[in-house]
Amino acid sequence: MNQEAGGRNRKRKRRNNHRKTETPSKKQTATATAAASSSVKQPPPTCTVAKSLPKPLSFLEKMKAKLAGGHFRMINEKLYTCSGDEALNYFKEDPSLFNMYHTGYQEQMSRWPEQPVNIIMKWLKDHPSSLVVADFGCGDARLAKGVKNKVFSIDLVSKDPSVIACDMSNTPLETSSVDVAVFCLSLMGTNFPNYLQEAHRVLKPSGWLLIAEVKSRFDPNNGGADPDTFCEAVCELGFTSVSKDFSNKMFILLYFKKKPKNKASKGINWPELKPCLYKRR
Ligand code: SAH
Repeated sequence: MNQEAGGRNRKRKRRNNHRKTETPSKKQTATATAAASSSVKQPPPTCTVAKSLPKPLSFLEKMKAKLAGGHFRMINEKLYTCSGDEALNYFKEDPSLFNMYHTGYQEQMSRWPEQPVNIIMKWLKDHPSSLVVADFGCGDARLAKGVKNKVFSIDLVSKDPSVIACDMSNTPLETSSVDVAVFCLSLMGTNFPNYLQEAHRVLKPSGWLLIAEVKSRFDPNNGGADPDTFCEAVCELGFTSVSKDFSNKMFILLYFKKKPKNKASKGINWPELKPCLYKRR
């Protein structure tokens, strides 16, 4: 993700906040005095500014936020550097880590100008609501809540009774039972090809595969994978590439369709997908 841009905006914001509270210059003081002594009564200049300023965080609140950020980054790195079954055991040992992860994840997402899950939701709304969806790595199941379709929400931990808790390389879904398989920022494990293979199994012939992933993971100039190599590998698995959308600043969107018939292919040349690590703030 482009943390640099976020950093610049924050610095600018901080500078602007500072401007609001900085002590007035001699010229400003002189103008204020002149205004005060004129016959027209001016409103007190400081009250509106004071009202709009957020309450500063206490030391304890700042410490808690820092610790929460540290925990999130640790769990996030773990999920990107282990396999799906290891991740499942990790959360089984301590399910509270999942809430910790998602609090941090939502915090990161709130900085993105656009959320990929909303684009996928819009795509689904533009297609018949009779399409059955499998949301692989659904998080808080926002997708299922936002559309009329029947959605199988899958994640490592079930935060909601509707979520199927499992490693998504091995789901309880029936073979050829869904019309759309969604991976929204969820190709995290080192064995991500197994997740795509599972999606291929559960998809009906000509079913859709929608992938939204962090852009930096597909930036070959920055250690990321070559998107063409990745798409070729997905096609080898038994899909046809329908469209690619690189227009968003933070993520890419890839749309595939399952081939109606295909021979099982082995020895696919999958590129490595680098972890998306978030910087300390
Ligand atoms: N799709 C959601 C959440 C993305 S966060 C959204 O866009 O808001 C990525 C999610 O993928 C996390 O909730 C994580 O637990 C899940 N995930 C990662 N690996 C998984 C696996 N092997 N099996 C099931 N879920 C997985």
